[in-house]
Amino acid sequence: MSRSQKVLLVTGGSRGIGAAICRLGSKAGYRVAVNYAANQDAADALVAEIQAAGGEAFAVKGDVGVEADIVAMFAAVDRAYGRLDAFVNNAGIVDVKARVDEMDVSRLERMMRINVVGSFLCAREAVKRMSTRHGGEGGSIVNISSAAAVLGAPDNYVDYAASKGAIDTFTIGLAREVALEGIRVNAVRPGIIDTEIHASGGQPDRVTLIQDTLPMKRAGTADEVAGAVLYLLSDAASYTTGAILNVSGGR
Ligand code: NAP
Repeated sequence: MSRSQKVLLVTGGSRGIGAAICRLGSKAGYRVAVNYAANQDAADALVAEIQAAGGEAFAVKGDVGVEADIVAMFAAVDRAYGRLDAFVNNAGIVDVKARVDEMDVSRLERMMRINVVGSFLCAREAVKRMSTRHGGEGGSIVNISSAAAVLGAPDNYVDYAASKGAIDTFTIGLAREVALEGIRVNAVRPGIIDTEIHASGGQPDRVTLIQDTLPMKRAGTADEVAGAVLYLLSDAASYTTGAILNVSGGR
């Protein structure tokens, strides 16, 4: 493969929405760096799948809640591919259902460290590589927010919703900050998407329970989110920056 072939890094790229972004990114011609936190088998399986389809990918372990892991992850992409053109801040967590008056400091700090601080630090590393101010060739960043940012997720996880509200504001501010440096920054706000994140928050039946209340009476798929992300990463969105696209089925 040509060294000039564009490179995409997706945090939390091994499962769910991130995996769909990696698959579609490979089909769009990117070499793909698939980040994961713990489940190496899932990451390796996705890399093998992309390679079997003729694409180029590698798995890179790293917890976005740990700054040293983030720095090492970007360094691994530098070594493997020597460039970075597209970056997706996708890794994110929910927690078990709780009211605000039940939340302790360790829960809140973990939520904000992974979903907010991790996204800032990853974007910092991406901007250092992409920005013309730092000698880069430009690039595109997409942050994965959530419909929860505007709905608030009462009685479920207001902390998670607030972390995604921060992602929305971060998207607007960073987009304006680097607009003259060849970098576009946008966000996608998924609604209820059928992935394993709901089980990780102790609600494995969330999609089934909630789908009849949704305007389309169904959850979205990871592929439906990935399509929006790949559009925003692409040159077809060359005048779009600081935008936040709802992919929520009207929710
Ligand atoms: P998911 O199915 O739970 O997958 C999570 C992915 O993120 C996995 O690849 C996981 O790696 C990785 N990950 C988790 N914690 C990480 C960390 N600290 N550092 C690096 N990677 C980490 O989640 P998803 O539903 O695809 O969600 C992806 C994004 O979409 C999140 O930001 C989420 O908030 C957002 N979102 C989801 C929905 C929804 O309904 N699904 C709705 C709105 C927004 P391992 O396999 O190693 O654990």
